[in-house]
Amino acid sequence: MPLIEVRALTKLYQMGDSVVRALDGVDLDIERGEFVAITGASGSGKSTIMHLLGCLDRPTAGVYRLDGRDVSGLSDSELAVTRNLRIGFVFQTFNLINRVTAWENVGVPLFYARKTNTKAPAFRALERVGLASRAAHQPNELSGGERQRVAIARAIVNDPLLVLADEPTGNLDTRTGEQIMEIFRGLNEQGVTVIMVTHEAEIAQQARRIVQMRDGKILSDRPTKDIVAERGHAPPRKLPSVEPAAPLDAAAPPPLDVAGAPPVEVAAAQQETPIAASALPPRIVRGAMPAIVCGLVAAALWVLGYAAQVALQKIYGYKPEAMDPMHPKMPPMPVIIGSGIASLGMLVGVVLAILAIVSGYGARRRARTEIGNWQGRRRALVGLILGWVVVAIPIIVIIIAVVKLATGGFGGAK
Ligand code: ADP
Ligand code: MG
Repeated sequence: MPLIEVRALTKLYQMGDSVVRALDGVDLDIERGEFVAITGASGSGKSTIMHLLGCLDRPTAGVYRLDGRDVSGLSDSELAVTRNLRIGFVFQTFNLINRVTAWENVGVPLFYARKTNTKAPAFRALERVGLASRAAHQPNELSGGERQRVAIARAIVNDPLLVLADEPTGNLDTRTGEQIMEIFRGLNEQGVTVIMVTHEAEIAQQARRIVQMRDGKILSDRPTKDIVAERGHAPPRKLPSVEPAAPLDAAAPPPLDVAGAPPVEVAAAQQETPIAASALPPRIVRGAMPAIVCGLVAAALWVLGYAAQVALQKIYGYKPEAMDPMHPKMPPMPVIIGSGIASLGMLVGVVLAILAIVSGYGARRRARTEIGNWQGRRRALVGLILGWVVVAIPIIVIIIAVVKLATGGFGGAK
């Protein structure tokens, strides 16, 4: 059973009165472990088929089976899960989140998959693309090639069935592009299935199979070695029927300068399409709910405990401050029992207050340092403050008692 099985796949777009056949009855099988390049002129349907294969869009007609499963029947949320767990994406413009580190960028798919431990797998993925030493750098501190390697690490962090790359070298100079292709080749040798769109013939030749598209149809689909053999021993600089060289070269971004800073175009493209943390699904940061609940219960126990003691003393006419310490008198029994229970509650309150403080700090630190659209910062802060208030009361009472005792003790000694 092939990993990808596509039959009569069709995608129509309505453009005003006319219908665009972006994909026109495509049949395609891709086996596990293949490395396929999809080439073709601009507008030939490359991105459209990548979107369909990547479960980012549904076909107008036809069948797409991924790993034996018909994808067209899945709901939106099932498609999202499929995308997240089984497919890795690499884009021309890297699409990294600025202002967070490389390893946190790599951990984003794990975040979507609701995995809590993201650091170790993210570092492993960075190691696989040879970038472990840059794990703590932010995208703007990395060269274009390094950024794309971070994006590749992100694509493989979930061990997907399939990695899809749409023009992954399009924003890189030739040499850096070759390095990126080497990484894809290495991953493919480790068993990762790679499908890549490119209009650069030399890049396409790094793949083991080249699918050429024209007008929404597959024009040719052959192993790379057959194409190379046909051309003689030396591979051609450009494949036939691929987009003309001149406009492409003119459109290619200038190479990186010596310092490794990305060309202006690359930087601009990256600015255009960063994924904002606010684009992630909102989630309540871990620790916020325990903080607010513990804080509120702790405060309630203290208010109730104090109120109960005051009420009992009032009801039974017992005034502790009027007692003569030389002639202590047993308070009434209900006051002793009631005060005991209230004190126990207040002791529990202190424990909960400490939990609220710890959870509150943890939640606020996570919201600051981990990637995500985190909610619940204010809840964590309220829990934290309530916790501190409850903990502070007994400390203040003890300090006052100690001061009183000390001054009283000195007074008694005179
Ligand atoms: P490629 O990636 O090979 O350049 P595309 O797959 O992006 O080509 O596009 C194939 C055809 O479908 C083009 O004619 C394009 O104009 C059209 N097309 C793509 N996306 C849309 C869309 N969202 N609405 C209308 N037409 C589209
Ligand atoms: Mg395209």
